[in-house]
Amino acid sequence: MIKKSEKAFQEAVNYIPGGVNSPVRAFKSVGGTPRFIKRAKGAYLTDEDNTKYIDLIGSWGPMILGHAFEPVENAVRKAIKSSFSFGAPTVKEVEMAKLICDLVPSVEMVRMVNSGTEATMSAIRLARAYTGKNKIIKFEGCYHGHGDAFLISAGSGALSLGVPDSPGITPSTLGDTLTAPYNDLDAVKRLLETHKGEVAALIIEPVVGNMGCVLPKEGYLQGLRDLCTKEGVVFIFDEVMTGFRLALGGAQERFGITPDLTTMGKIIGGGMPVGAYGGKKEIMQMVAPSGPMYQAGTLSGNPIAMSAGMAMLKHLKKHPEIYAQLDETGAFIAEGLRKSVKELGLNYTVNQIGSMYSLFFTSEHVVDFKTAKTADIPAFSKYFHQMLNRGVYLAPSQFESLFLSTKIDKRIANKILRASHYSLTSLV
Ligand code: PLP
Repeated sequence: MIKKSEKAFQEAVNYIPGGVNSPVRAFKSVGGTPRFIKRAKGAYLTDEDNTKYIDLIGSWGPMILGHAFEPVENAVRKAIKSSFSFGAPTVKEVEMAKLICDLVPSVEMVRMVNSGTEATMSAIRLARAYTGKNKIIKFEGCYHGHGDAFLISAGSGALSLGVPDSPGITPSTLGDTLTAPYNDLDAVKRLLETHKGEVAALIIEPVVGNMGCVLPKEGYLQGLRDLCTKEGVVFIFDEVMTGFRLALGGAQERFGITPDLTTMGKIIGGGMPVGAYGGKKEIMQMVAPSGPMYQAGTLSGNPIAMSAGMAMLKHLKKHPEIYAQLDETGAFIAEGLRKSVKELGLNYTVNQIGSMYSLFFTSEHVVDFKTAKTADIPAFSKYFHQMLNRGVYLAPSQFESLFLSTKIDKRIANKILRASHYSLTSLV
């Protein structure tokens, strides 16, 4: 029954573009009515019609410890007692900055912002200020938020809606954004040769979540690191999704790569609107008021958000065993899905690393934008609705990674696999 969600959606479209405040929530690529959620706890979401779902979105990443995680809830309750925002420095911001520098290997200095988009936009501006160059390189199918420079061959909602190149981007912005296929080192070499001395930054999702889950090939990230060092290009890891998820120190810890700048979001706020960018001191000291690169924010470093984020990060730091548990759950689900598709004679692909995974409705080995786009979208959409009817809430797009939380135990993982097997059966 989705009566209340239907009513809410009908009303919402009159007042909010497309009825939602972020496009991919609208079920646009899978069809149907988005569920309006009224509460969540642990591994579950409950919608306005009181239907419960196993949640594999986790608010698109932040909820690595499940919903309404008590230490975060308690930290927020406590912080609220001292009021909501001061617009002046707090010791919590210092504590947060120290914690991030301690956890993320390459980060020596950090600036807090309010979203992943702000983090990536600021990091690019900083790289331009630092190098005195204009162009950036991004990868087809990677998504770095909705800053103008990134909405070219973009993944995530832009890709799901069929607008990877958004209208409204000026020709000069287009000209300054160079794109290369993911996992193709030679393509980057060629771009750097053609645009020698013009490239300020190269930004990458070290593991892509925004064209579905796509892993870097062996040696690829190190190859990019070497090219950036050689050509004086600022190497930016966008760890908004992977940060504090693939390891406590993010993808850079997991793969042993040292970027110059890192952008963060999602988990860092414990579910509150938080982002951050940080990296080498020499570069970060260019940020105002320490240096000339201007970047600011009325609510940046907000005390409630810092309290939520810190409670989350401190818990992860205290319990590093969580990452082995998430790896195990991820591998268990991926293996189960592979077995299931094989049994049913379906030739689909499963990509997984740690607590991120995607079932791609294609027989191609998915390594980039081109191979991701071979997925059978009508088949995915059918599967999505089958899963939803069986009480499993997937991302409503083939081009998104799913996110596991520590609250997905073996019992729930088996439920997901059973629901998936029956949903896939309906496709054969
Ligand atoms: N970078 C990556 C890798 C993301 O996945 C996202 C959002 O999904 C962003 C940046 C933008 O973050 P936000 O939606 O908080 O602006």
